[in-house]
Amino acid sequence: VLELHIRTPYVLIVSDGARAVPAVLQSMMAALDTQTHVVAVPVGPSPLRCVGLRVDLRRWTLRYGAEGGCGAVEGTAALLMRSEDLFNLSYPTESPSDTSIFIQASLRGWKLRVLHRGFPSAPSPLSSPHDVWKAKSSTDSRRRRLMEEFGIKLEVLEDGRQRWYGCNKESQRCFGTVLARTPRYLLQGRWTPPCCLRALRETAKHVVEVLEGSGVRYWLEGGSLLGAVRLRDVIPWDYDVDLGVYRDDVAKCPWLREAQKGPVEDEEGFVWETAAEGGFFRVHYSRSNRLHVDLWPFFPRAGVMTKDTWLGHPQDVEFPERFLLPTVPLPFAGFTAMGPNNPRQFLELKFGPGAVEEPQYPNPAVLRLRREEMTQ
Ligand code: ZN
Ligand code: MG
Repeated sequence: VLELHIRTPYVLIVSDGARAVPAVLQSMMAALDTQTHVVAVPVGPSPLRCVGLRVDLRRWTLRYGAEGGCGAVEGTAALLMRSEDLFNLSYPTESPSDTSIFIQASLRGWKLRVLHRGFPSAPSPLSSPHDVWKAKSSTDSRRRRLMEEFGIKLEVLEDGRQRWYGCNKESQRCFGTVLARTPRYLLQGRWTPPCCLRALRETAKHVVEVLEGSGVRYWLEGGSLLGAVRLRDVIPWDYDVDLGVYRDDVAKCPWLREAQKGPVEDEEGFVWETAAEGGFFRVHYSRSNRLHVDLWPFFPRAGVMTKDTWLGHPQDVEFPERFLLPTVPLPFAGFTAMGPNNPRQFLELKFGPGAVEEPQYPNPAVLRLRREEMTQ
């Protein structure tokens, strides 16, 4: 329907109070070329400043900085575009319009050019502190909506400050039930949202502190051990953290004892429970946000670690107890957790040869990791 309202070959997107100057408009039109699809000029006395912009949809992240040329501008700007370019955008009228256009331009590899000469702006009417606050809070909520629209959960500003839009302790988890070990975001070509990775790290650190405090022997398991060995962190597409525990130590931990009677929330809001699937424990980030750490109880029998319930995952196998005699400290997710000694050998036993060097999605039968994804 936008086409019905705009019949000119160019569109000027401009804030209230700007006064267009024909000569400036002429130079803006002249600056559009085959690569340049957006031209910006300042509105009012302050010059515009170029900021690099990198849109990383896979990681749900926007990064502003010195790198990436001129991807966005700081300051009040008027933007000129060809009308057909505007019509071609998926979100042509989303606001804040400048941020929305910068993001879409960056995704399409369109160049943004800044001209120095701009438009004067009419003096703004005197505004009370309340009006200023109202304007800011409405900009904030529109920005929040825009980020939701584009699936951006984290903005990293030029000075390193971060703006988060994703899940937290009070909200729900960003993704629904995981089917066939393949969370939906993988099917959408994305990795675990950064807010979720952050919550997983925080939950894992908390659980490890509680286990160590109560003398429960534990070790990093499965994909979490793989992440620790590969990159000292949660694998960027993983959706939970897995720990093994000695079954006979479970009773040493008050929260695990409580969890056997039913779900229980600890002082820091983490929820401990026995998993519905049975035979293991699950610690959730919070009552509402079900990001979790799984605890798999194993016991030794004739030198082999075994357990009562098997869920049929390929890596869900018995292993020699010698891998735990002793366990060794491994950097993981910003803290130190214990893992099996000879972790590489342990991982190859569980996942097969080359498991550490050749990253793969949790269920390659559903979705395989493509080589080129690793470098993006
Ligand atoms: Zn999240
Ligand atoms: Mg896992």
